[in-house]
Amino acid sequence: MSLAPERGIGMTSQRTRDRMVARLREQGVRDELVLEAMRAVPRHLFVDEALASRAYEDSALPIGFEQTISRPLTVARMLEVARDGRSLDRVLEVGTGCGYGAAVLARIAGAVFSVERIAPLLERARANLRPLRIGNLRLAHGDGHRGLPEAAPFDAIVVAAAAPQVPRALQEQLARGGRLVIPVGVDSQELTLIERTAGGLRETRLDAVRFVPLRSGKG
Ligand code: SAH
Repeated sequence: MSLAPERGIGMTSQRTRDRMVARLREQGVRDELVLEAMRAVPRHLFVDEALASRAYEDSALPIGFEQTISRPLTVARMLEVARDGRSLDRVLEVGTGCGYGAAVLARIAGAVFSVERIAPLLERARANLRPLRIGNLRLAHGDGHRGLPEAAPFDAIVVAAAAPQVPRALQEQLARGGRLVIPVGVDSQELTLIERTAGGLRETRLDAVRFVPLRSGKG
């Protein structure tokens, strides 16, 4: 490996990551565990080398296959909402993309499962994640509409692509007290929280967001 995670210099250094976290605080992120996880994960290792110097900017970046890595604020916000100050045992991510979100999640949850429909993108995520040697993360190739029944139920499910409606299987795979965070909508999307309470499912609409679409089938 020519670029070890701890060897980042200049625009990819720990100081750059610290500045990103300071900005996230200013933008209202309060969850210290999420902030610490994002301080630790070298985001520049998940984008193309040509984009590495922009990895800590407050923007989404292309990761190939017409997909994007979400902007840091969006990642932080989704994880903060999903966690809600609880300790998370099992978590499902739908839309592995470059693997960044999964790497952050693995630092805040006991066991993380992440599903991606585009096989070559999943391979890229594996390659990005390998040097980080994360022991509590499993990647799977499949259509996230189905969730991951064999690993359910989950304390939290985070969906990194927008759906017209909340997929039923994902709601069904929530543990009691579990929280599903998903962008819902086609042209205009809203980050939506579904909670499984003792009385049933409760839905709350949060911020306006912009995500790539959740697609059907394997790519
Ligand atoms: N968390 C990712 C974000 C990637 S963008 C990251 O940190 O990079 C959203 C991803 O969702 C894309 O990789 C896209 O291929 C994937 N996706 C879209 N529809 C999907 C589906 N039905 N099942 C699984 N993954 C899906």
